[in-house]
Amino acid sequence: MTEDRVYNFSAGPSIMPEQVLQRARAELMNYHGSGMSVMEMSHRSPVFTEIFTDTKEKFRSILHVPESHEILFLQGGATLQFAAIPMNLMEGKTADYAVTGNFSNKAAKEAEKYGSVHIACDTADTGHNRIPTQEELDLSPDAKYFYYCANNTIYGTEWQYVPETAVPLVCDMSSDILSRPVDVSRFGLIYAGAQKNMAPAGLTVVIIDKALAGKELPCTPQIMSYETMIKNDSLLNTPPCWCIYMLSLVLDWLKEQGGVEGMEQLKKARAKRLYDCLEESRLFHLHALPGSRSDMNVTFRTGDPEMDAEFIRFAAARGLTNLKGHKIAGGMRASIYNAMPMEGVEALVDTIKEFERKHV
Ligand SMILES: *Cc1c(COP(=O)(O)O)cnc(C)c1O
Repeated sequence: MTEDRVYNFSAGPSIMPEQVLQRARAELMNYHGSGMSVMEMSHRSPVFTEIFTDTKEKFRSILHVPESHEILFLQGGATLQFAAIPMNLMEGKTADYAVTGNFSNKAAKEAEKYGSVHIACDTADTGHNRIPTQEELDLSPDAKYFYYCANNTIYGTEWQYVPETAVPLVCDMSSDILSRPVDVSRFGLIYAGAQKNMAPAGLTVVIIDKALAGKELPCTPQIMSYETMIKNDSLLNTPPCWCIYMLSLVLDWLKEQGGVEGMEQLKKARAKRLYDCLEESRLFHLHALPGSRSDMNVTFRTGDPEMDAEFIRFAAARGLTNLKGHKIAGGMRASIYNAMPMEGVEALVDTIKEFERKHV
């Protein structure tokens, strides 16, 4: 790590690979002889068209997206998809929602405006500290789709299996996309805001089975219609050009690290190191239950908010920043996305142990 940079454990926008930032800096003023920055280019120019096409191809190849599925580069964040999904896929009828945290709860609430939402499970009663088993899911036979959030960024839980359903799966992968291989053919739709594990905020990637498009409610804004966006190859209007370019740099970096297969090994190693340390701790305890724990967001606490605050300050003084948990969850949260180097996790483990020696 460069000396004046910190280990940034922010949940999002979050750490970017340092090599990516270096490359963006090198190409900032004059992108490949164009005499301008990617920020300044027309989205219809040949040079940007090449970036766009190339990014899409790289994404398809890295996540092994089959030809049956289209890749869209959209705006509006993950939150816009809370509405776009029911508008496009629910046909005013019903859909199943697995509520395992704040974002899936928000998505279910938004979907209620467009049809009838059936709650397939809700883990609120135990503070969203676990993922339900397949047997616990209450599936309705007439659902247009089954919706879930693969990784619960705030509570630090992650689905360790893909649910078995008779209807298309719709999944929010905002905080764990590209961290492991996914059998995309099993999903009707996958989406992710870029700012956790892919690129700067402003880009949302949607991967959709083309067979599902074209059934949107008549009131659906053009910009939110998957069919319109597929027909226009995401270029109905100006796309988030800079974010798409940054994604292409991240994809190059990811490929060098062994792709999503390499990322999965790294994510397991990072998470194991941190969970093992916290399991052994006599001061800190983990929020999420074994078997449900996220490899991306590790939530822990002492049980004393004053002590938590002291730890957060102690870590920040050592260059480990943004460890404060989300306000609705409290405690600490260490987000250890793809770009977090193992040294960052080692530094956190050392800090946890040092703090513990002082306080136990
Ligand atoms: C951050 C996050 C969101 C919200 O993303 P926005 O881009 O801010 O709308 C939704 N779902 C998950 C899982 C997230 O981590």
